[in-house]
Amino acid sequence: MKVAVFSTKAYDREFLTRFNANHQLYFFEARLSLDTVRLASECDAICVFVNDAVTSAVITELASFNVQVIALRCAGFNNVDLKAADAHGMKVVRVPAYSPYAVAEHTVGLMLSLNRKLHKAYHRIREGDFRLNGLLGFDMHGRTVGIVGTGKIGECVAKILSGFGCRLLGFDQQPNLACEQLGMEYVPLNQLLSNSDIVTFHCPLNPDTHHMVNETSIEQMKTGVMLINTSRGGLIDTAATIDGLKSGKIGWLGIDVYEEEADLFFEDFSDSVIRDDVFSRLGTFPNVMITGHQAFFTSDAMTQISQTTLQNLSDIEAGKDCFNSVK
Ligand code: NAD
Repeated sequence: MKVAVFSTKAYDREFLTRFNANHQLYFFEARLSLDTVRLASECDAICVFVNDAVTSAVITELASFNVQVIALRCAGFNNVDLKAADAHGMKVVRVPAYSPYAVAEHTVGLMLSLNRKLHKAYHRIREGDFRLNGLLGFDMHGRTVGIVGTGKIGECVAKILSGFGCRLLGFDQQPNLACEQLGMEYVPLNQLLSNSDIVTFHCPLNPDTHHMVNETSIEQMKTGVMLINTSRGGLIDTAATIDGLKSGKIGWLGIDVYEEEADLFFEDFSDSVIRDDVFSRLGTFPNVMITGHQAFFTSDAMTQISQTTLQNLSDIEAGKDCFNSVK
């Protein structure tokens, strides 16, 4: 298949090229949008990532070029208008699981860094400052962690935290037996929020979960709660979260995703002025740690993403029923 691969960085090219045998891959740095869609005009398929906007208008253009496949090289598909794709008979495939360990381990990394202030300690020692004041943390052992969404990633987080000796609360419409066997107690969301020292989010972004962290839900949380979001930025109402940080209701915030990340993440703005005042405000808090959607980024995950994406394209080309189709 001829495939237009959007939003590519050197590492995407490296991994996709390494595992490709059958397809003609055309790599574009540009993000997919109405302005860039014509780059796919000679192709049978497009391959996109988390911040490519596969809107109805973009899909109409793709259909006019006879593009037949949208291959996501990620798990989430909230950036694809599935109805429009279906209306044009376009197949959508994704990588449903590619090392949930990568995201889970980064999630716990954020918890530990915020708690033990490893980012500050690193700089202090390099400056020859060996004082401990300001670095006080807490034992993870015995703390209550609420996991919202206990699918593949939530389960891995639960397993790691169980090893730490944390008490686990879960909220998910579909309880996970493996989590229950770890001792996780499934409770209603309001009970999870009011009883957890740490709340971590691992559910998909959809109309039900959009801004599930908002003024009302923050009010239900323990004072000084640590919030972690490595799922999708839209789960969190950032303005309400900033208010929570200012009042001290939220004690720590660790995020790998941000609701307006599409205009920032994966690019280098170190030499320019960042115009997003909300994001800039977040960066001023000493108890906030932000990473730029890197939770998935391990060599193991990149290998699985590339292999699965190429296999998805091969399955469709061979007329097979692709296991990873998004219906
Ligand atoms: P998964 O489908 O295995 O699990 C998601 C779980 O969320 C399911 O158990 C589902 O029942 C539950 N859920 C759905 N709606 C819910 C709701 N309203 N409240 C509570 N639970 C709900 O998915 P996964 O592989 O564990 O991935 C979880 C999310 O992580 C993805 O949707 C994606 O947005 C995000 N993700 C982020 C990165 C990153 O690099 N930061 C990488 C991969 C995935």
